[in-house]
Amino acid sequence: MHPAAQKFAAHVNPSFVRLLGAFGYGRVYERAHGTTLWDSEGREYLDFLAAFGASNLGHNSPKLMGRVRAMLDDDAPALVHTGIAVHAAELGEAIARHTAPLSRCLFSTGGGEAVESAMKLARAATKRKAILYCKGGFHGLGLGALSIMGNGRLRDPFEPLLPECYEIPFDDLVSLEKTLLDKKPAAFVVEPIQGEAGVIVPKQDYLRAAQELCRKHGALLVLDEVQTGLGRTGTMFAYEQEGFVPDVLVLGKSLGGGLVPVSVAVTTPEIHDRAYGRVDRFDLHGATFSGWALGCRVALATLQIIEEDGLADAARARGEQLVERLRDAIGTHPFVKGVRGRGLLVAVELGPTKGSGILGRFLPGVVDVVSKRVFGQWLALRLLERGILAQPASQQWNVLKLSPPLTVTEAEVDRVVDTIADVLAEYTELRPLLTDVGQRLGSQFLSGWTF
Ligand code: PLP
Repeated sequence: MHPAAQKFAAHVNPSFVRLLGAFGYGRVYERAHGTTLWDSEGREYLDFLAAFGASNLGHNSPKLMGRVRAMLDDDAPALVHTGIAVHAAELGEAIARHTAPLSRCLFSTGGGEAVESAMKLARAATKRKAILYCKGGFHGLGLGALSIMGNGRLRDPFEPLLPECYEIPFDDLVSLEKTLLDKKPAAFVVEPIQGEAGVIVPKQDYLRAAQELCRKHGALLVLDEVQTGLGRTGTMFAYEQEGFVPDVLVLGKSLGGGLVPVSVAVTTPEIHDRAYGRVDRFDLHGATFSGWALGCRVALATLQIIEEDGLADAARARGEQLVERLRDAIGTHPFVKGVRGRGLLVAVELGPTKGSGILGRFLPGVVDVVSKRVFGQWLALRLLERGILAQPASQQWNVLKLSPPLTVTEAEVDRVVDTIADVLAEYTELRPLLTDVGQRLGSQFLSGWTF
């Protein structure tokens, strides 16, 4: 085993190393540039995962790295808490230019922390306690964010969590209004497109109508754009395509250019003042690294590069190409239920269709289980072996998620579509899939689940 994998198993996460060994996913990535990664054996990969949407600029973007090198040389204080954080002020102003009328920023480092900032803000501003969230929603793994986790497997081992957090179905205004009336919540926290639940795109107008309902019933609409924000869906923020502005916007992941952790919850001065607008409340929220200089400077440069390079427009154009070409190439495949997405957040859903053959017709449950447990991971593994990094959605393994850096080229999109079509062409029936998976598990078992 590679020494880094041995150390990782010994000191960081042995279960993850075992999981990688089950199918033979083991790779140690040593170098990254743009859309390309290289592993310790010199193999090259086209990255269609982009660190779960954190690398919108591509890995080690030369433009960003050039600006970061200059930052490291000017002796600006990294952290001073008794004066004005100059770079937090600059970043706040830049964010506000994009998000008006949201113009007050609560900075943090992880996406989940920014979600918790929004939860605290909503409670303090409304003087209410309950929080509504959606089934399937993913907002982070801290104890606060976990309390609004729409996936039991990730939440249950840590119960009891925050009281008065209530789950409702996604894209369902009737349930929302009923629960707003029943529970009188401080906030409804929702993603514009549910990423980890399998790239679920709600009906047009859902979010705008949800905000109207929230306003009618005295709750704030908190929009979690940690994954969809900063160009990924074809506009700077997904909400721009819905004709409304949320009460609180949460950003993270790509805000730090894929290089440093920076996140933010942005809101209106009025909401912020209601929560924290008195001198004796100035320190009710924050952390040592909220608004840290390097993070804020990298985020500022990232926003500039997204604009200068037109990356939101690029995401729209490449995303349309990806969806159209996938629909042409695999849309009628017997195990492809659909291709969907917005911008460069795209999904291929696997599962039984009318054309799934005898097994699909008589045992759709078997096909469904195989798709959910095995097919997505197997497809990802076969793509990896052909030099493409992609993963199923973390909470929906039958959905292959494609979310490359926004710098991806037309030729790279074509290559990925062709490779997916090639691999899927080997599995127009279930039998060869089960045979190949069985053989692989057998050989991995015999080799001691080698990494
Ligand atoms: N919100 C959304 C929509 C996410 O996809 C994620 C992470 O995948 C988070 C929040 C949590 O972000 P972090 O992992 O930085 O805490």
